[in-house]
Amino acid sequence: MRTIARPSRLTLAGACVALWVGLAAGNGAAAEPPVRVGVLAYRGGDHANAVWEPTIRYLAERFPERGAVMVPLDLSGMDAAVRARTLDFVLTNTGNYVELEARYGVTRIATLHSSRAGASGGSIGSTVIVRADREDIRDLSDLRGRTVMAIDPDAFGGFQVAWGEMLKAGVDPYRDLKELRFSGFPIDRVAFAVRDGESDVGVLRACLLEELVAEGRVDARRFRVLAPKTVPGFDCALSTDLYPDWPLARLASTPEELAKAVVVALFQMPDDHPAARAGGYEGWTVPLDYQPVHALFRALRIGPYRYLRDVSLVDVAREHWEWLAVGALALLWWAVHSLRVEHLIKVRTAELRAANRDLVHEMAERRRAEETARERQKEMDHVARLSILGEMASNLAHELNQPLGAIANYARGCIRRLEAGTLDPAQLAEVTGAIAEQAERAGQIMARIRNFVRKRAPQMEPTDINEAVQAAITLCQGQAHNGHVPIALALSDDLPPVLADRVQIEQVVLNLVKNALDATVGTAPGAAEDTRRTVRVRTGRDGKGRVEVAVTDQGHGLSEEARARLFAPFFTTKPDGMGLGLSICRTIVEAHGGHLWATDNPGGGLTMRFVLPAIEESETHDS
Ligand code: ADP
Repeated sequence: MRTIARPSRLTLAGACVALWVGLAAGNGAAAEPPVRVGVLAYRGGDHANAVWEPTIRYLAERFPERGAVMVPLDLSGMDAAVRARTLDFVLTNTGNYVELEARYGVTRIATLHSSRAGASGGSIGSTVIVRADREDIRDLSDLRGRTVMAIDPDAFGGFQVAWGEMLKAGVDPYRDLKELRFSGFPIDRVAFAVRDGESDVGVLRACLLEELVAEGRVDARRFRVLAPKTVPGFDCALSTDLYPDWPLARLASTPEELAKAVVVALFQMPDDHPAARAGGYEGWTVPLDYQPVHALFRALRIGPYRYLRDVSLVDVAREHWEWLAVGALALLWWAVHSLRVEHLIKVRTAELRAANRDLVHEMAERRRAEETARERQKEMDHVARLSILGEMASNLAHELNQPLGAIANYARGCIRRLEAGTLDPAQLAEVTGAIAEQAERAGQIMARIRNFVRKRAPQMEPTDINEAVQAAITLCQGQAHNGHVPIALALSDDLPPVLADRVQIEQVVLNLVKNALDATVGTAPGAAEDTRRTVRVRTGRDGKGRVEVAVTDQGHGLSEEARARLFAPFFTTKPDGMGLGLSICRTIVEAHGGHLWATDNPGGGLTMRFVLPAIEESETHDS
C-alpha cells in the first residue's frame, strides 16, 4: 500500500489523515481497526515518512487482517494523542519517551538496535568538538565564557546529554557561557560553525562527526574531541555516557496480546530488512533500561522533572519547616508585642491627653482664681484705704480747717482794713498772696486724699521710701495733733530707692503709724514733754542691705490674743476697727518681696517693722 494522505499539521488532528499502510485497508474488509503507531516527526512529515514508513509497512504486513497506521506527530501532538489514547503504540526519541512514561505510563516494549551500540546496548551520546588548533580549550571546564553551538535545545544526543556532562564539569551552559546558540537543521551546521571559527565549541550527536567525515564533508583532522571517553564496542568519538536509542512503547490501554504480537513481529525483523535500513537501525532488541535518562533529566530539570525548577513554597515549607515555625513564632511574638505596645501607647496617650486637659483646666481655674484674688485684693486695698480715711475723717477735717480758717482770717482782715480805708496796695498784695498760699495748702491736702483713695492698679516704680513715709505722716498729722502724740521722724538720707507702688507703701506706713497713735492715745496723757507718748518713725538699712522702716510706740502693747492673731483678717480690738489693716499691709509688703513683723519694746509698747529689697545702683541706671 501507499501513502494515502500526508498530515498537514503534525497534531492529533493529523492522525485522521495519517499515513495508512495496511493490506486490509486495500481490500476494505478490515474486521478490526488498524494498529495505530504514533511516530515522532521531529523533522516534519516527509522526513518521518521516509524514515519510518517502511517499518510501519513491515508491521502492517505482519497484521494483514487489520493493517497499521502511522501517525506522524510533533512533540505536542504526541502528548495530546497519548493523553487522548488515540494510539496503540508510540515510536519516539529517548527523551520524549521518558516524558510520556512519566506522565501517561507508556511502557517500552522494544528498543532500536544500532550496529554501533556499546556493550550496554546504548548508542546515543554526544561529541563535544573544538577546532584542533584551539589549545586554549582542553576540557569541558574550559567552556566557561565560550561560544557553544548545538542543534536544538530538545535534541537528546545533540545537546541534552552534553548539557548533563557540562554540569558535571561545573559549567551551566545557560549561565556560564558567553553564548549558547542552536543551529537547527541541517545537522552538519554545527561542525561547519566550529570549523569556520563562528563558534568556539560544537555539540554533535555521537557518530555524526564520523558520518560527516565518511561523506567527505569535513576533515577529521580539523577537530579535536573534548573529554573523550571510550566505551567498549562503541567506536565513535564520544564525550559523554551512552544512552538507549529510540524505543517502541505501548500505551497503558493497548491490549496485552497486541503488544506481544508487535514485539514478536519486530524481533523477527531481519538485520538487513529494507525497513531497518531506511530507519538507520539494525533491527530491534529487548527494551533497555531508561533509568539513566530519567537521572539525566532530573539533573537537568527538564521533561518530567521540569517541575523541580519551580520549587514551590510548599516544598520549601516542607524542607525547612523548623525554621519557618521559628520564624512564624517570632513573627507572632512581634505582632503581639507590636499590638501590645500600640495599645499601651494609645492608653497612655489617652491618659496624657486627659491629664493635659485637666492641667489646662486647672491652670485656667488657677488663673481665674488668681485674677479674682488680685481683684479682691485691689478691692480690699481700696476699702482699707477708704476705711482708714473714714477713721481719720475728723482729723482731716481739722487739718483742712487750718488753711480754711487762715484764709477766712486773712479775708476778714482785708475787709476790715478796706472799710477803715487803711489797706494800701502793698498790704493787699501780701494778704492775697497769703490767702493763695493757704488755698494751695488746702488743695494739696485734698489732692493727697484723692490720690490715696483712688481706685487703681498697682504701679511699680523706683520709689524713695522717705518721701512715701513723709506723705503718709502728712495724712495722719491731724490725728497726732488731736491726740497730743508727737511723731518723731528719723529718716536716713542715704537710702537707695525701692521698686514699689508708692501709694501702697504710703498705705502701709499710714496704717502702722495710725495703729501706733491708736495704741498711744489710750495711755494716760502726760506732760507735753513726756517722751513716752512719742511715736517714732525711723528709716534705714538692715544688716542685709534692705531698706527698713520701723514704727515704734510706747502704747499699751499686745495682749496674748492680739499677738497670736495680729495679722489675721478681721481681727480687731477697736470698737470701730475693721481688723483688715495689718493683714493687707503684710500682703502688700510680701508682694514687694519684703517682710513685715512686730516686736515688743523692752520698756512697753510695740515696734512694727518692714523691710523691702533695695534697687542696687546698677539696676537704677539700667532702668
Ligand atoms: P484695726 O486697726 O482696724 O483694728 P489692724 O489690722 O490694723 O486693724 O489691727 C489689728 C489689731 O492689732 C488692732 O485692733 C490692735 O488690737 C492690734 N494692734 C495693731 N497695732 C498695734 C500697736 N501698735 N499696739 C498695740 N496693738 C496694736
